[in-house]
Amino acid sequence: MDEEAIEKYERWLSRLAFARTTTRRAKLKKQLDCGHVIDGTEPYRYSVWRRNYDDRGVIHQRTDCEFCARKDNRY
Ligand SMILES: [Zn+2]
Repeated sequence: MDEEAIEKYERWLSRLAFARTTTRRAKLKKQLDCGHVIDGTEPYRYSVWRRNYDDRGVIHQRTDCEFCARKDNRY
């Protein structure tokens, strides 16, 4: 990851009021926000976050399969 990317990422983080990521398991077949469909045996990532400039009560959510979550995991 180059410096520009790190800076960009830190700027993005600084705009977050909170962010939480949990791993969940689906009971049934489920279509995720990344576009993939998983069955009940695969864990998936559930993210929830809120930015400082969001209106009151606005919360963003996103689900990604393990594969996509790993691909954009930039820590
Ligand atoms: Zn995916």
